[in-house]
Amino acid sequence: MTSLPDNSDSYSLLAPGPVNLHPEVLKTLALPMIHHRTPEFDAILKRVLKKMKDIFQTTEDVYMLTSTGSGGMEALLVNVLSPGDKVIAIVSGKFGERWAEMAKTFGAEVHVIDVPWGETVSVAAVSELLKKHPDTRAVLCQACETSTAVAHPIEDLGRVIAPYTETLFFVDGITALGAYPLPMDAWGIDGIVAGSQKAFMLPTGMSFISFSKKAAKFFDSAKSPRFYFDVRKEKKANAAGETFFSSNVALIRCLDVVLDLILAEGLDAHYARIHRRAEFTRKFAQELGFTLYAKSPSDSVTALKVPPAMDGQKIRLHLEEVHNITIMGGQDQAKGKIIRIGHMGYIQDAEMLRLIECLGQCLYHFDSGFITLEQVAMVVRDAQNYLEQNG
Ligand SMILES: *Cc1c(COP(=O)(O)O)cnc(C)c1O
Repeated sequence: MTSLPDNSDSYSLLAPGPVNLHPEVLKTLALPMIHHRTPEFDAILKRVLKKMKDIFQTTEDVYMLTSTGSGGMEALLVNVLSPGDKVIAIVSGKFGERWAEMAKTFGAEVHVIDVPWGETVSVAAVSELLKKHPDTRAVLCQACETSTAVAHPIEDLGRVIAPYTETLFFVDGITALGAYPLPMDAWGIDGIVAGSQKAFMLPTGMSFISFSKKAAKFFDSAKSPRFYFDVRKEKKANAAGETFFSSNVALIRCLDVVLDLILAEGLDAHYARIHRRAEFTRKFAQELGFTLYAKSPSDSVTALKVPPAMDGQKIRLHLEEVHNITIMGGQDQAKGKIIRIGHMGYIQDAEMLRLIECLGQCLYHFDSGFITLEQVAMVVRDAQNYLEQNG
């Protein structure tokens, strides 16, 4: 019927979202639809909302929105901001730019801390700017800036912001929450957003958010216009065992499955599994001749600088067309210079090994003087040993 990849063993979706789906999720997606106002769905919703707190590592409520991650980013802002409020936006790539732009759209006075691509934010710079603007309502930061694969020092930032009793620390955890430790309560995070197609290993279409008590204080006084993303409606509905709008039954049912998989394994073991994929990729991609783009690399995604004479976009395309593996290229200023490999989702050792092999073959294809096929085979052998020894 179609020649598109079918998520079988031969196709790997190794982007930093969307990701390969777990076989149990695929099965769940095929179930007959049920109505969201049924005892059957009520039970699912109730246990999912409870389990989400364990992933967020919070005692606060977690809300589930039918929107992409960006909708969740907007929901965080509109529920606490009023036009004219001061916002400090840490901008270290595409997603930081987007959040700053959103805050401006809702009338905030946005002070940007520009971080060069590939670098992490200076906690001292944030501290300085806060001293200058102690009346800042919110500080915005990506936990992992997916466009550069940088992991920002969220725990340290939380410590700096916490003493400001009227300033909220908002974190975009879309490629972090669920992929590596980001305990909301312990790290003083006042608002956080996660996304279904990234660390939550689901199809695209849901975002998950939570607010601290410090943030909830502003729900009623916030003057940003909001209707769909008014968290007060959702809070009331959840308390009654429902969602305010029609529930995303298909994805929430899948989320139930994913949460069981993660919690059965344990959060630490789940994080360790993703960390191992990141370590493996960083190690063997460098042995092939790539270099790391991020100064402080995230475990959820790896950004690799391609050799100077090569084009990352061509490598990305070749990998997809010839080897049936999808990774991502760079955006904006990093376009052509980097490739990005995701470590979230359902990824088996054989796929990781095949990626290294195919990346090596790509390098040879584009410049046979850069690496020989014998050298590629040697790296693949080392990589295979590594996987066996670090099982
Ligand atoms: C993917 C991503 C987003 C945007 O999510 P959408 O689901 O595409 O709206 C925002 N922030 C980060 C860090 C992301 O990785």
